[in-house]
Amino acid sequence: MRIPDIFKQRAEEGRPVFSLEVFPPKRKKNKESIYEAVDKLKVTQPDFISVTYGAGGNIADNSTCEIAATIKREYGIETVAHLTCINSTREDVKVMIQRFRDSHIENVMALRGDIVPGEDIKREFAHANELAIEVQRQCADDLDILGACYPEGHYESKSLEEDIQNLKYKIGAGARVLITQLFFDNKEFYRFIKLARQSGINVPVSAGIMPIVKASQIEKTVQLSGASLPHKFTAMIADYEHDPKGLYQAGIDYAVAQCRDLIEHGVQGIHIYTMNDPKVAVRVWEGVRDLL
Ligand code: FAD
Repeated sequence: MRIPDIFKQRAEEGRPVFSLEVFPPKRKKNKESIYEAVDKLKVTQPDFISVTYGAGGNIADNSTCEIAATIKREYGIETVAHLTCINSTREDVKVMIQRFRDSHIENVMALRGDIVPGEDIKREFAHANELAIEVQRQCADDLDILGACYPEGHYESKSLEEDIQNLKYKIGAGARVLITQLFFDNKEFYRFIKLARQSGINVPVSAGIMPIVKASQIEKTVQLSGASLPHKFTAMIADYEHDPKGLYQAGIDYAVAQCRDLIEHGVQGIHIYTMNDPKVAVRVWEGVRDLL
C-alpha cells in the first residue's frame, strides 16, 4: 500500500498513522537479529516500518531492500525503503531503484545523506530532490516518495525559513509525505508545521520521536541531531545521571508524554526511531495505544 493512502485513511478515521524505523544490523552475522526485533515489534501493529540506508551508499552489501521486502512479505507490514544519493553514482541509484521494484517495494524515502568532512563523495546528486526526480523518471507509477524534514532546520541551512524554502524542492520533485528529524520540544514541531503550512507545504508530516533511555544515547544521538533540549529534558537527564534504571523509565515516560501531546494537538503521524530495541518501542506504544 502507498504511504500517502495510509495517511488519507487514518485521517478519515480521525487518528494518526503509527510507524516505526529500524536499521539493518551492522554485521552480516547479526542479520537475523532484525527479524527477532520485528517479531517483537509486530504487537504494535504499525502502519508501516521504514528501513534506513547505509550512508556509505555501497550497493553491494546493502541489505535495506532485502529487509524491507522481507518485512512486507513475511509479516504483512507495509514498508518504506530509505535510499541516499550523495555517495552514489546515477548507475548505483538506477540499480537500487530496480531492486526495490523487483522486490515489490512500493515506498521509498529519498534522502541526500550526510556529507562527512574529508570523505570522498560522488556528487552526481547534490540534494534529495534530485534523487526524487530520478525515482520519478525511472518509475513514477511504481514507487511513492517520502522525504525528510527538520523541525529546527537542517544544520546546513542558515535558518529554519531557508530550510523550509528548500524543502519545497523535495515536494516539487514528488515527495508526498514527510518524516521529521527527532526532536524533544513539541513547541519546535508546532512552529515548524505552522511555517511549513504558511509556505504552501501541504503534505502529511509525521513526527519522529526517539525515546532516550541510556546515557550513551545522549552524546551519540542527541548532540549529533542538533535538537534543542528543553528544561524538562535536561532536568530528567540530571536527575537520573547515576541511575540507569530510573533513566530508562523516565526516558520512556518522556517519549510517551511527547506523543500524547502531539496526538492531542492533531499530529498526522508518529514515527518511532526504535534503534532496533523492541522493548522500548513497545513500551512507548503501550503508553499511547488508547489514542491510536
Ligand atoms: P536535502 O533535502 O538535500 O537537504 C540537505 C540540505 O540542503 C538542507 O540544508 C536543505 O535546506 C538544503 N537543500 C535541499 N535541497 C536543496 C536544493 N535543491 N538547493 C539548495 N539547497 C538545498 N541518513 C542516511 O544516511 N540513511 C538514512 O536512512 C537516513 N534516514 C533519515 C530519515 C529521516 C526521517 C531523517 C530526518 C534523516 C535521515 N537521514 C538518513 C539523515 C539525512 O541523510 C541527513 O539529515 C542529511 O544531512 C540530509 O538529508 P536530506 O535528504 O534531508 O537532504
